[in-house]
Amino acid sequence: MRIEIVAVGTELLLGQIADTNSAWLGEQLAAAGVDSHFHQAVGDNKDRIVLALRTALARSDGVIVTGGLGPTQDDITREAIAEVMGVPLVRQEALVRRIEELFLARGRAMPANNLRQADVPVGATVIEQTNGTAPGLICPVGSQVIYAVPGVPHEMADMFTRGILPDIEARLERAGQRAVIGSRTLRTWGASESALAEALDDRVRDLDAQATGPLADRGKVTIAFLASGIEGIKVRLTARASSPADLQVLLDAEERTVRKILFERLGDVIFGTDDESMEHAVGALLAERHLTIGLAESMTGGLISARLVNVPGASRWFRGCVVSYDAEVKYAVLKVDRGPVVTAAAARQMADGACRVLGSDVGLSVTGVAGPDEQEGVTPGTLFVGIVLPNGSVTAQELRVPGDRDRVRQYGAISALDLLRRTVSRELPIGH
Ligand code: ATP
Repeated sequence: MRIEIVAVGTELLLGQIADTNSAWLGEQLAAAGVDSHFHQAVGDNKDRIVLALRTALARSDGVIVTGGLGPTQDDITREAIAEVMGVPLVRQEALVRRIEELFLARGRAMPANNLRQADVPVGATVIEQTNGTAPGLICPVGSQVIYAVPGVPHEMADMFTRGILPDIEARLERAGQRAVIGSRTLRTWGASESALAEALDDRVRDLDAQATGPLADRGKVTIAFLASGIEGIKVRLTARASSPADLQVLLDAEERTVRKILFERLGDVIFGTDDESMEHAVGALLAERHLTIGLAESMTGGLISARLVNVPGASRWFRGCVVSYDAEVKYAVLKVDRGPVVTAAAARQMADGACRVLGSDVGLSVTGVAGPDEQEGVTPGTLFVGIVLPNGSVTAQELRVPGDRDRVRQYGAISALDLLRRTVSRELPIGH
């Protein structure tokens, strides 16, 4: 089943408001297993709304219109729908009374214009008002349908859930097309979008072939890549199945396949799933191993610690941080040898100092140059990450990250966490 969305409102075209209704509806339709191939935005002009509706009905089974159901003369969605249906609008007395009651309850006189909201195309049924005075409409057009809801986002959402979704589900049921669609996101760090796409190229082709081949009825899976700023690249698996249980089976199987391929071709790039952030992944890793961590942050000035304390329950494994920004603090508190402090040796000593001062099992340190100027002859964007583990391993790695001062610090923080994650999983496999 295909349903399009038409958002009505000149303010949408002028960029005065963003069309969040269509985005929300798109998500809901996908979750209900309904395809939505087109979204249109159209101004408050009857002819153009009629054109948008006819265009939508020419290529889809139904359309959801949001906006333009208000009481004023420029709210003309009702009239446009009646024209497409080829029927007149009729004022419904029950709606007139309901609108009058709403005004009475608010102690306000009802402007005559509001009665327009009681006008309903012949043959349409009504979705009762939420808080506003405009009801929603379910308007059959032959075997197709036009749903209309107000533009106010919470009214639109409430009427979708109460009125539109049950009607769509009944139509899917009748057509024997009930499907469940769901996604799972694998969060990656350290590989570019093109590297991920290349590694999964064969798999994407196989899935395309299956979707149209003899196995198509077993369900359909697609893979998409989404960049999410400094938080890495998301690999989103979306599956369509005939029941929630089948959906989980499909997603589980695809997740295993994709994990295996990426691990073999790109290494340990997946740090989490869905909403799991890098700090959640690191926290889980430490908690599973009953380890505590202490930090020594120079260039990142506490950014890593701030991320770690985002994680609920961080107090079980996060001991604290020494923000050793000044070289003297590195020497005096962390016992770093006097001399240059943007070096691998200094990073190792800082991590070791953090463990000692904070009484932690694991030590993580960052020292580097955020810029804009170089320091100790080291170029901006260079950092050293020191890691001390309870198995006696003491390492430091040099990393280079791009961008201005702010990005270097942000990238530095997540890069250090990722390095820690990879090092802990490799050096301290579970069961040790
Ligand atoms: P009402 O019956 O309450 O007057 P309406 O159906 O006439 O609603 P509009 O007048 O088009 O709806 O929009 C009401 C408000 O809802 C707008 O001022 C805007 O803030 C918001 N809105 C409208 N369309 C959208 C949209 N597509 N996405 C997000 N917000 C929207």
